Amino acid sequence: MSKRIIFATGNENKMKEIRQVFHDLDYEILSMKEAGIELEVEETGSTFEENALLKAAAIAKQCDDIVLADDSGLEIDYLNKEPGIYSARYLGHDTSYDYKNKKILEKLADVPRQQRSARFVCAIAAVFPDGHSVVERATIEGEIGFEIAGEGGFGYDPIFYVPEYGCTTAQLSPEQKNEISHRGKALRMIRKAL
Ligand code: IMP
Repeated sequence: MSKRIIFATGNENKMKEIRQVFHDLDYEILSMKEAGIELEVEETGSTFEENALLKAAAIAKQCDDIVLADDSGLEIDYLNKEPGIYSARYLGHDTSYDYKNKKILEKLADVPRQQRSARFVCAIAAVFPDGHSVVERATIEGEIGFEIAGEGGFGYDPIFYVPEYGCTTAQLSPEQKNEISHRGKALRMIRKAL
């Protein structure tokens, strides 16, 4: 039987990205739901790293498998790095991203390109059955675009413009996004610890 990795997220978009990066590993990759684990972990940490470790450690107590968890978000320099660790909760947890993205574009309406710098951040924690843990962090630098563009990805992807590619992360193929994204990079870093 192959070894199992449980990824502590309920976000199907994240699961897709993780499965793609880990597809050639000799591990069965399961979401929490697939592993039959139901647990809401409050993100009470003050950094991406703390929150990722908090989630992974809480789930690890419920099983004998390797548990991975990520905490990620968007930092907009002009907004003092908001929404940061509050990215999912920003403007309301259940508010649509179409609305959130439009609001951010409104807030930056008169802001010139040089001041629109932003980055996606992702911390991934791995907690092993023997209790030891590893945390990695990675980023992708970009800019807040001037309009919503693209249908791919999720969340803030349609307003996250990557100058090197001349498009938003919502306009990249899943493979391209994983190659350059914060989550793709952090997953490849954490792979080395498995
Ligand atoms: P988490 O599930 O607590 O890590 O919340 C992360 C939030 O940050 C997500 O709900 C998105 O709003 C945003 N986010 C993180 N990664 C991405 C990404 O790759 N694309 C777009 N938005 C992202």
